[in-house]
Amino acid sequence: MPKKVSPQQLSVKTLYTLLVISYLTLLFVWLTGFRYWVSYPADMATAAAQQQRGIESLAQALSLAQEQLQIMTNDHAQWDDSWDFIRNGRDKNGYLSSNFIVSTFASLSLNGVMILDHNQTLRAGYRYSNANGQLEHYSGTTDRLLPPILQTVLLGSTPATAMTLIDGFPTMIAANPISRSDGTGEGVGWMVFMKHLNNSMLGDFERITRLNIAAVAITNPAQGFDEPVSIAMISVIRCLLDPFEQPVYCLKITDPDLSLPHLLNMNTLQEMLIIGAIPVSLFSIILHLIITPLKVANSHLLRNLKLGHIKELPLTQSFYITEIAQLANSHNQLVATIRDQNQRLEVLSHTDALTGVRNRRGFDRMQERAWYRLCRNPLSMALIMIDIDYFKLYNDRYGHQQGDQALQQVATALSKLARRTDEEIARFGGEEFVLLVYADSREELEQLCTQITNAIRILAIPHPDSDVSHRLTISMGAAWIHHGGPWLGFISAEEWLQLADQALYLAKNNGRNQYRVIDVASLRPAAGSDSADGDLADGNTADLGFASRQSTSWPE
Ligand code: GH3
Ligand code: MG
Ligand code: MG
Repeated sequence: MPKKVSPQQLSVKTLYTLLVISYLTLLFVWLTGFRYWVSYPADMATAAAQQQRGIESLAQALSLAQEQLQIMTNDHAQWDDSWDFIRNGRDKNGYLSSNFIVSTFASLSLNGVMILDHNQTLRAGYRYSNANGQLEHYSGTTDRLLPPILQTVLLGSTPATAMTLIDGFPTMIAANPISRSDGTGEGVGWMVFMKHLNNSMLGDFERITRLNIAAVAITNPAQGFDEPVSIAMISVIRCLLDPFEQPVYCLKITDPDLSLPHLLNMNTLQEMLIIGAIPVSLFSIILHLIITPLKVANSHLLRNLKLGHIKELPLTQSFYITEIAQLANSHNQLVATIRDQNQRLEVLSHTDALTGVRNRRGFDRMQERAWYRLCRNPLSMALIMIDIDYFKLYNDRYGHQQGDQALQQVATALSKLARRTDEEIARFGGEEFVLLVYADSREELEQLCTQITNAIRILAIPHPDSDVSHRLTISMGAAWIHHGGPWLGFISAEEWLQLADQALYLAKNNGRNQYRVIDVASLRPAAGSDSADGDLADGNTADLGFASRQSTSWPE
């Protein structure tokens, strides 16, 4: 019986499946961990750096704008006309009317100008509205236009810039001490230029920086442009601060080229799929090349084992793997060897060791086949039992060994009498043989019996103790079936043999060295009679009206 698979044993398929699942789990954990702790933070840092560069470029654009405003202010502050105006206290030569006109404000994108004397008193002031293109003189106090707190910052001995809210507008301010064109004569006053941060300026910044910029409400706490970007976001808010770090104007900055990394992006998924596909494809290859052939071979072996068959593995299943193919071939060769040995054993088990002819078991098989054919076909056969006369006495005189030699001689002589492949001689046991032969007529059968007697006689084995001859003789009893067929149903194969034995008994009783024949057809029950058993059992076969003949009269 096939040994059962114990719970500790694993099939290759289960083992591989477990390995693949563990591998995929580890892979998933590893890739997710790597993504979470290494590549995702790196991507985020790259995005933050990109955002930081965007903010820096906007800050640069803003400081450039402030620088430009500062340059313009400086141009007007370090100028003899301005110095003269503040020094002399009046608009000589139309200084104000020729320089501070609409076209100047429009072309320089200015929204305000203040000219202050050394007491920070407003000597001239203008406001320009980009919306309606109106230039308006301003004649109030300095404090109304420029918060006093800013005056302390801006109005010093050096040029200065600042951001602040003026009239609700975020405004860039540049202040410069007024001097002569050659830089001398300082300390007379200040030139202050103002410029609103309006939408058109934001549009300019957008073009320069390639960012999307939108003004938003002031946030709290407000982050200035110096604040580094720590976490990348879709948009960041940065505010312009006044000199006291108070927010003046906040901008929402969005980089359209920035795509924020996702924790599980397509790349990671693709990597997982590709790396995960490797063991899965390997599995299908191993399944096709190793596991399935092994399973098929195994199921064949188990079936053969269960049915007790010794059969080759079908090589229709392609074994691509050399070792498996070799295993299958070796198994098939082993099966061929076992078959061969079984055949030899079969022959041996049906052969008599001493004489080399069939033994009793071999005879049984032979008789069974013959009986089967006889019961179906109109064949004519005889079963002849042959017994050596006074063989015990022969043994007693010559010894068992010589008795064996005599038996071998008799067997060889008898086996030569078999005329067809299906006519065979067998050693029935002891000094008895049995012969199955075809005989279509009584004459043929009698002729054959005579031939057998002759064959033994020709051996001329001396037997001085025999009562019937001075040579070894035999007695025979034949049970003859003439034209077999279903009519034989009234007896069995064993009874056929018994009839031959009865015939032999008659021959022995009648003096030995002779043969007797029983015609089985003569025992056939007459129509209406129950069976032939009575006839067979009463041992009266000698009187059943068929040929029997003594052969003692053969010439010596
Ligand atoms: P009968 O004429 O009535 O047949 O007398 P018989 O002596 O031949 O018959 P019996 O049955 O009394 O003795 C058979 C003898 O055959 C007995 C035994 O010694 C001998 N015998 C049986 N088998 C063998 C064998 O294998 N080798 C030898 N040498 N003798 C055997
Ligand atoms: Mg005997
Ligand atoms: Mg005998």
